[in-house]
Amino acid sequence: MIKITAFGAAKEIGKSAILVEDKDTKILLDCGLKIRPKEPTEAPLGLKKHAKEIQSMVISHAHFDHTGYIPRMVREGCKNVHMTHPTKDIAAILWRDHLKIEGARHWNEDDMYETLRTIKSHYYDQKFKLADGVTATYFDAGHILGSASILLDWKGQLIFYTGDINTFATPYHDTNKYPTIEDISILISESTNGLRDLPNREIPNESIVEAIYKTYQRGGITIIPSFALGRAQEIEAILAKEFMNTKFRIFVDGMILKMNEIYRMYFHEYWVSKKILEWCRDYKVEVPFDLKNFIPVSRNLADNLNTYRKMIVSEKKPNIILSTSGMMEGGPIHSYLNHAAGNPDNLIAISGYQVEETIGRQILEGAKSVTLFSWGDKKGFKTDINSEVKQFQFSGHAQRNELIKMLKAINSKNILLVHGSEEAGESLKKDLENGRNVKLPTVREPIEYEN
Ligand SMILES: [Zn+2]
Ligand SMILES: [Zn+2]
Repeated sequence: MIKITAFGAAKEIGKSAILVEDKDTKILLDCGLKIRPKEPTEAPLGLKKHAKEIQSMVISHAHFDHTGYIPRMVREGCKNVHMTHPTKDIAAILWRDHLKIEGARHWNEDDMYETLRTIKSHYYDQKFKLADGVTATYFDAGHILGSASILLDWKGQLIFYTGDINTFATPYHDTNKYPTIEDISILISESTNGLRDLPNREIPNESIVEAIYKTYQRGGITIIPSFALGRAQEIEAILAKEFMNTKFRIFVDGMILKMNEIYRMYFHEYWVSKKILEWCRDYKVEVPFDLKNFIPVSRNLADNLNTYRKMIVSEKKPNIILSTSGMMEGGPIHSYLNHAAGNPDNLIAISGYQVEETIGRQILEGAKSVTLFSWGDKKGFKTDINSEVKQFQFSGHAQRNELIKMLKAINSKNILLVHGSEEAGESLKKDLENGRNVKLPTVREPIEYEN
């Protein structure tokens, strides 16, 4: 009998941590924290007492809702941590950043270094051992750099965990890979977009470019708040293709710069699509963001970055700004909004999902004034929002139709839907049920499967 318990990401998104066990083996799939606006991060409750008995943790990808709690589990005694090579480098950056923001609430710096020493990193498509009789193989998930789905061979039974997947090809990543001929006994899938069908990537790509031209024609600049990892590089590639031989300049700011360097390290066909490698070869650049109209906004550029940022937004030039954070909760984007969002000619081009209660969500819903913060300033200051606000339909996740198609193609009789709202899960369940056992786990309630 195999028992599966979700300690998070059950009828919600956040703190993914799925324990798979039988009478003598325990393996944990992902180990994240939930990030909540205006509240501290939330740990997967009740998980740490299992740490000593878990033989291995297998991590799908670097996003914090899948990696944020790993150092704590290492402290508690789980010393085998597996992830792909890029995931390790990205996680190290995210962990350091988290310590700066939240401090040692769940784990401390020593735990982080101990974890980094412990991690075993892997390539895609290569089997590795997790425990006696249990192996794992990573499949490219197409979601961000290094993202993977996980195939477990559990003493002869196959379990496939999608992690976060993208069924659309994006500039850096091909569509996700999954097993189709094997007999999968349990399929654990994300369900983020269970309620949403999205247009093909050409639609947002073209419409963001069109909106940038229109903004420039009326004398404005475009500000693109973006997640540092994945979305930012995708937008950079779109902008590189469109604007490389124009007078548009693309200023890149915040954590995106660090993530760009990780993308550069792994700019190889093991990790990114051949299409982008060929494109760069054709245009004689190492990576798209090396084109000469990309300008990294860093300390090398100016003594006072705030003054420099103000200058960028005030120049009557075709400037585009790509900056963190994606939901406008903090980061250099506040500096740009402060100087630019009052101008009705400018455009705030939202490129990602905006969680409720975030500043990004307020702006998207038409707030005319928001409270922003500068570094170290707790009180904040009010800024008027008069610029045009537009959202573009990018998503890093499988959209509804494609997800259903994939789940049917894998054809497992047992499906568990995680990493999505209850409504999204229920809606998918209706479409998938026909002869299959489809379940939405409840947090900390084990589900048992007979062999
Ligand atoms: Zn993710
Ligand atoms: Zn996720």
